[in-house]
Amino acid sequence: MTTTYEQIHDELKVQRESLLADLQELDARAKQWFIGYETHPADAGTYAFDQAAEQAMRNNIARTLREVEEALERFEKGTYGVCDNCGKVIDIARLEAIPHTSLCMRCAETRDYHNNR
Ligand SMILES: [Zn+2]
Repeated sequence: MTTTYEQIHDELKVQRESLLADLQELDARAKQWFIGYETHPADAGTYAFDQAAEQAMRNNIARTLREVEEALERFEKGTYGVCDNCGKVIDIARLEAIPHTSLCMRCAETRDYHNNR
């Protein structure tokens, strides 16, 4: 069975819901930690460390959510599946693996190379 854009569109909508739920859960937990910090000031270091890890996770989720939303916008505009950088059609297998990607394999590799230097 071949994956269609329609299926990927549905997948992106499911992902958006699940990412939003994750963010809400993290925010709820962050509030609890704040209460914990108030009552156990001696553990402030541990809390700070955990909160930094949680913050990093939150940033990750928020970034993926933004990419998913941008991908959904590209569906609206009819430009989904076209590379943002070079304008070529992105391989369907790549879209299956990373539905929110806006770059073809070649451009993504080039970008990663630059980012990792
Ligand atoms: Zn490209």
